[in-house]
Amino acid sequence: MAETLLINGQWVASSDGGTQDVTNPANGSVIRTISKGTAADVQAALEAATAAFPVWAGLSARERAAIMHRAMDIFRANLDEANRLLTQEHGKPLNDSNKENSYSADVIDFYAEEGRRLDGTHFAGDIGPTHSFVLRQPIGVVGAITPWNFPVDLLAWKLGPGLAAGCTFVIKPPSEAPLAATLFVKSFVEAGIPAGVLNIVTGPGRSVGAEIVTNPLSRKVAFTGSTATGLWIAQQAAQQLKPVTLELGGSAPFVVADDADLDMAVPEALRRTFSHTGQICISVNRIFVHRARYDEFTQRFADAASKLRVTADGLAEPDADMGPMINASAIETVVGHVEDALERGAAVLTGGQAPSGTQYAHGYFYLPTVLTNVNRDMRVMREETFGPLAPIAAFDTLEEGVEMANDTPYGLAAYVYTNDLDKAFYAAKHLRAGGVGINVNDITDIRAPFGGMKQSGMGRELGQPGLDAYMEYKHVRYRYRDPR
Ligand code: NAD
Repeated sequence: MAETLLINGQWVASSDGGTQDVTNPANGSVIRTISKGTAADVQAALEAATAAFPVWAGLSARERAAIMHRAMDIFRANLDEANRLLTQEHGKPLNDSNKENSYSADVIDFYAEEGRRLDGTHFAGDIGPTHSFVLRQPIGVVGAITPWNFPVDLLAWKLGPGLAAGCTFVIKPPSEAPLAATLFVKSFVEAGIPAGVLNIVTGPGRSVGAEIVTNPLSRKVAFTGSTATGLWIAQQAAQQLKPVTLELGGSAPFVVADDADLDMAVPEALRRTFSHTGQICISVNRIFVHRARYDEFTQRFADAASKLRVTADGLAEPDADMGPMINASAIETVVGHVEDALERGAAVLTGGQAPSGTQYAHGYFYLPTVLTNVNRDMRVMREETFGPLAPIAAFDTLEEGVEMANDTPYGLAAYVYTNDLDKAFYAAKHLRAGGVGINVNDITDIRAPFGGMKQSGMGRELGQPGLDAYMEYKHVRYRYRDPR
């Protein structure tokens, strides 16, 4: 029996003894067997988090920060183990795991200090001798539900601000990749965080995740995952007017203007399209290039894509460009998008199949793939692929390029490459996305809000808005007597 649930400070087995295997997507081997939690486990975890809330919220921000920093010292001391676990359960090369885990620790350290810097508003009243001040108080028990693509980082984005604000948590890590995230949480336990502040219940989304969302003891849901699940969560939470932060799917456009520096644009588009095997919410999903540069860009991009190194062992090849996809259904989506595009007249410039070689035989692999002759009716242009697939289309004016980029239900990230300030500002203003990169292929910065427009989500993580999302405002007005 696996004792991997964390409830009220204790590592326990699931209430019905259920277990699930965590496998390596690169070769199918079982890495570990963990508990498969139940709705009853969620209830127990929520009760523990409810009891711990006044304890944690009652500490000063400085005391909370001390525990958070201590936890990250412990996590950093175990970084090698965390990196290896993450590479085994997700498949990403070791250097990418190290980047994710290290960044996650930075996020916790950052918010530990931001919690201490919270200031407020106060003002003299306008109805006689009164004075007002505005308190910001923690929301309470938060249900945190995360996906497998950045299982540690996306948890840190929730725990950092939430713990700093004084909230307690019931966490549901993804079943595909729960191990490094559990080690991350264990660091807080070892750092002496009070029992019940952090609880983990692994298990299926439809039972464990759904219970976290619908149980009235959770006072907020912080979710990262697909738009379909996010829509369902929003509907459930609405029944209780429960606040939600939803970080959902994306279909990021990469717009290359006629004057762009291709020495910069090609490798940066490549990295943002294919790293993590395209399984990042801000991955480039569609590329739009000014017609004057289309042939040159496309040729260079496809050449470079065909040379990327796909590893079947991210531990042995830490600096490989990409690893496997997460599972069979992820591959099916990519194959479906490629087949649909080919039927509608697209051409494959490189890729379009699994890599050959015995090392790839037992994992979920697909080559970096580039499509041309694409149009807006193809699934690859309308849906999130979440895989190593790049369709490239041409535009004649930047205005048209931006319109094509915006022709999607999603609005998480967008990139534009140009050396013309006017074009850069035009694109930044008109691209409908929560983050726009101008000559830069990453819009993530701890200090800046991160999140989506349209069906990419609701609310923001990181930056000050990321902290606000875990607090409620309370206006306190008092009347005083003049002693004279
Ligand atoms: P998913 O929605 O299938 O699962 C995400 C999490 O939700 C998992 O832990 C899952 O078990 C749980 N879940 C599933 N059904 C649930 C339910 N009914 N109630 C509660 N929880 C439930 O998504 P995924 O396939 O794991 O992740 C990939 C998706 O995540 C992509 O669409 C990607 O774009 C998105 N994503 C978004 C961001 C962002 O910041 N916007 C970041 C990373 C990933």
